[in-house]
Amino acid sequence: ASRSEGEVYCFFSTEMNNEAQVRLGLEADLRRAIEREEFVNYYQPQYDMAGQLVGMEALVRWTHPTQGLVMPGQFISTAEETGLIGALGDIVLRNAAADIMRWRGLGLPVVPVAINISAVQFRDARLVDRILSVLSEHGLAPDALDLELTESILMGEQAGAVGFLNQLAAEGFRIAIDDFGTGYSSLGYLKRFPVHKLKIDQSFVQHLHEDTNDAILVRAIINLGHSLAMTVVAEGVETPEQFAYLRDEGADAVQGYLFSRPVPSEEMERLMRDGV
Ligand code: C2E
Ligand code: CA
Ligand code: CA
Ligand code: CA
Repeated sequence: ASRSEGEVYCFFSTEMNNEAQVRLGLEADLRRAIEREEFVNYYQPQYDMAGQLVGMEALVRWTHPTQGLVMPGQFISTAEETGLIGALGDIVLRNAAADIMRWRGLGLPVVPVAINISAVQFRDARLVDRILSVLSEHGLAPDALDLELTESILMGEQAGAVGFLNQLAAEGFRIAIDDFGTGYSSLGYLKRFPVHKLKIDQSFVQHLHEDTNDAILVRAIINLGHSLAMTVVAEGVETPEQFAYLRDEGADAVQGYLFSRPVPSEEMERLMRDGV
């Protein structure tokens, strides 16, 4: 932080608790980082059960000038609380679009890129236009992307969510529900929204072999998704045993450290070229 920010920080220190001060410092730092676009996309590959690359997820990292690579868990919630997530989301999208166009230019067989959209971004009435305008800047069609949303967006709290989703689906975006199974018990929303894909939350996958309830739930989610004509992807796959269970139960695709951690775009390029 600059000297003047340091002074502001001291000025407030008697008024605020420590957590609030840290947050204020982070907000200022984040604001500056967004102006300077200090973010890169890492990509984590998704494979079908025969080992074919079928997709990838863009996961943002902050290339902080002094702290090095900062993980999204450290700053996404602050970005959401301060309204900076809209601008950050644009940067992630722009970086993904640029990477896709570069990969296509190299003649690589580019698979759809999944982009995480936070519930807060769904409160922005211009969300659809924002996404479309970034894509058109790069000459990219919506079918190049999957949009990953969490269940909270679909639970009807947010006015306009149905309209947005129908609009996005009509434009040709595929919609995936992220962290499926962790949010709400009501499944009624699944038939009200154009959903193409369920991503089984990693918490269910992680304990597949210690917890029979998780194994039963994973099977149930796969069957539920398939009976609604959706693709089912499991995330957080770390062991061959987890993979074998998912394959036997008919999951469509997998993502996890067993296959690859999220990697920088150059490394993703190599994975596209050479396979696993
Ligand atoms: P997510 O969307 O559920 O992403 C999956 C997270 O699990 C990623 O963490 C990924 O690195 C991690 N992961 C992948 N495979 C494994 C595995 O086998 N084992 C374990 N233990 N973890 C695995 P990451 O990259 O730290 O991202 C954390 C969260 O931050 C994401 O969770 C997502 O909610 C959010 N996020 C990341 N990038 C963006 C973004 O561009 N926009 C928004 N709005 N949120 C983002
Ligand atoms: Ca995700
Ligand atoms: Ca997830
Ligand atoms: Ca998550």
